[in-house]
Amino acid sequence: MRGRYCLMPFVFKPEMTSPKQQKKLEEATRRREKVFAEHPEVAELDAVIKKKEFTLRGANFHGLDTKERQQLQGEITKLKGKFNKLLSEKGIPEDFKQPRWDCPKCQDRGEVLTSEGYTRCSCHQERDLSLIRRQAGLPPRYAEAKFATANLDLYPAKDSNGKETPRLKAKKAFKAAQEFAHSQLKEGHSQGLLIDGPVGSGKTFLLACITNELLAHGKPVRYISYSDFLFLVRLSFAPDSPYSEYQLIHEIEQAPVLIIDDLGTEQATDFSSSLLYRIIDHRYGRQLPFVISTSCSLNELARRLGFLGEKIMQRIIESCRVCGLKGDIRQKLIAKERGKDG
Ligand SMILES: [Zn+2]
Repeated sequence: MRGRYCLMPFVFKPEMTSPKQQKKLEEATRRREKVFAEHPEVAELDAVIKKKEFTLRGANFHGLDTKERQQLQGEITKLKGKFNKLLSEKGIPEDFKQPRWDCPKCQDRGEVLTSEGYTRCSCHQERDLSLIRRQAGLPPRYAEAKFATANLDLYPAKDSNGKETPRLKAKKAFKAAQEFAHSQLKEGHSQGLLIDGPVGSGKTFLLACITNELLAHGKPVRYISYSDFLFLVRLSFAPDSPYSEYQLIHEIEQAPVLIIDDLGTEQATDFSSSLLYRIIDHRYGRQLPFVISTSCSLNELARRLGFLGEKIMQRIIESCRVCGLKGDIRQKLIAKERGKDG
């Protein structure tokens, strides 16, 4: 019954050749034909071996008994030895008929058959990682930002007003960020983070640490600076734009983890207010986490997010743990970088 009377369409994706595989196969065919054209004796011997192999494969059909089969097998082995010797005399590599795969393990198919079915081949896992790294959109300046190398000693250990010191605040914020990243890697928890702090307090560095931590474990994440994102959306209205507004927004709405840097830097228009509400509400409804940084206080942020500011903030507060940074560490960072150079 199996197979013969099966009405389901027979789909066997891994056996389908990709355009890249097809190219490699065609290249191998051309190489073989070139060798055969230049060395007819190689082609002749190859044809004799093939004919004998064909007979052996159809041994039952040809009515061969065991002795005849063994005899034929012996002839083939001898001819193959002669064939390889001929190749070596003519300086032709033994594998001249084989396609030159980039990955012999999966023959450039990207998938390998394991006991658990078809799984991604290691060659593609590496490529997938580099692709999600590029798609994350993190500025190259922050490519090396990591929790392990974050120097919280740059934050002042004292506060002139007797309030929580910048260093203590930074420790809490970095801890919350690390916990967020780890929960994303473990169970994909939906609670996000809202980090407020003045310009120069290291918010982008902190967001980059989260982004890099997720990327290091192969978790797709999308980083945007909100003003850059709005700029791209506005550009998408131009008739010759390579992106559509839909593409840009869809990507941000669907990202498994969204990191929005510097929200509230400009007063929102009705358009940008509606757009942000749409994105935040979409992610809120689907429990897709987001991390937001802002230089504004929460009240100020609600005002700067325009006519839907209050509603947006409601969603953000419901979805995010709030923490902050304070102090301006830029001068110290610059001094540190200079120290490194000289
Ligand atoms: Zn492979």
